[in-house]
Amino acid sequence: MNEAVQKFMEGVAAKNPGEKKFLQAVQEVAESVMPVIEATPAYKKAKVLERMVEPERVIMFRVPWVDDKGEIQVNRGFRVQMNSAIGPYKGGIRFNNTVTLDVIKFLGFEQTFKNSLTGIPMGGGKGGSDFDARGKSDGEVMRFCQAFMAELFRHIGPNTDVPAGDLGVGAREIGYMFGMYKKLMNEFTGVLTGKGLAFGGSLIRPEATGYGVTYFADEVLHQNGDSLEGKTCVISGAGNVGLHTIEKINALGGKVVGMRDFEGAVYDPDGITPEKLAWLKELVFKRTMPAGPHGGYLHHYAEKYGAKLMPDKKSWAIPCDVALPTACENELDLNDAKELIKNGVKYVIEGANMPSTNEAIEAFQAAGVIITPGKAANAGGVATSGLEMAQNAMHLCWEAKEVDEKLHGIMRSIHKNCVEHGRDPKTGKINYVKGANIAGFIKVADAMVAQGVV
Ligand code: GLU
Repeated sequence: MNEAVQKFMEGVAAKNPGEKKFLQAVQEVAESVMPVIEATPAYKKAKVLERMVEPERVIMFRVPWVDDKGEIQVNRGFRVQMNSAIGPYKGGIRFNNTVTLDVIKFLGFEQTFKNSLTGIPMGGGKGGSDFDARGKSDGEVMRFCQAFMAELFRHIGPNTDVPAGDLGVGAREIGYMFGMYKKLMNEFTGVLTGKGLAFGGSLIRPEATGYGVTYFADEVLHQNGDSLEGKTCVISGAGNVGLHTIEKINALGGKVVGMRDFEGAVYDPDGITPEKLAWLKELVFKRTMPAGPHGGYLHHYAEKYGAKLMPDKKSWAIPCDVALPTACENELDLNDAKELIKNGVKYVIEGANMPSTNEAIEAFQAAGVIITPGKAANAGGVATSGLEMAQNAMHLCWEAKEVDEKLHGIMRSIHKNCVEHGRDPKTGKINYVKGANIAGFIKVADAMVAQGVV
């Protein structure tokens, strides 16, 4: 770590004790952007980075609700409004038992740079709760969402802060939260994205993150004179992002042979073909449909298609050309990186937020493996949320083809931006982590300088 970064990080660590994930996210960005700050007196004088690591506002609240047995449950709710320099706060809501203030702060920080990269005017924010929908009835999920929104509604709005989904928050939860917001405000606005198609949602929004990840991967491979055609790929989380990533990889001629859920990994050397994927999607998405828990898990897939079940294993044990982490933060550590490198991985395209530890990133880069950060590669989801906001503001709906083309264009432009800011002038090599951080940073920093000390 260089001296300026070390000094800066000591200050951030002292102010945010114990917030390991937030500090990890800040350090990765600080290492990339410090040289830019040192070379730009206006950024230094305006203390842009010191201000960026301080959320504009943190809201933490009690979420009491009554379960099916009539017992009172108490969860904790969060909304971190990180940075509004370039637009209203924008970012998802995560419902998972791992959610803490640290997690939401790191996600809000990442979101600020990701949203900037999309080129759409959106600031950074994130929210969530330690509520976990697994094992809850549909009625319980609805009552929880309503209780969560009964506090959150006063802090958000279509021009203030526009939440969306994330882990544990899909169409069902967004629907329940939207309903409660509308009731409380007596106003029908695009205050959330990822809405159902019948009430202001955008076509392609459910597919957008996974499609975007694959469009980005396609650009990265082309930049290297390569293509997805015939490539062996492995994802991790078989959720919304992962399943739509498989769909697009299939369409572009690649083959996905491995994935994972919380029970373990599944290895299908023949690939998850479009037919198998259709069955798998139904299995997974049924779990979060209103009217009770249905669906199943990856072991059902392994049983049905004769794939190899690897209990308690990560997907990173499966040899591949392209690894696409699509689950959650720090799911790929130094040991996983070593295993992937040993097995000949060439590209790591991050579909999740901060899935690789900083040590894993360093190991990939030292081994010449190209790694592209989530804030660039998975920006297609929030970018399409931006397109949903645009459609809501105009009171119209675009066709799927139009949204998909816009998404594809945005992913191409993010890639171009990363290349421009990440290319080493001496070697010509591209450091995507650096490129994404710098490109995302400059836009927000310029806006903050222009707006004065606020
Ligand atoms: N949670 C997603 C992300 O990490 C989507 C956010 C949004 O659409 O606002 O980018």
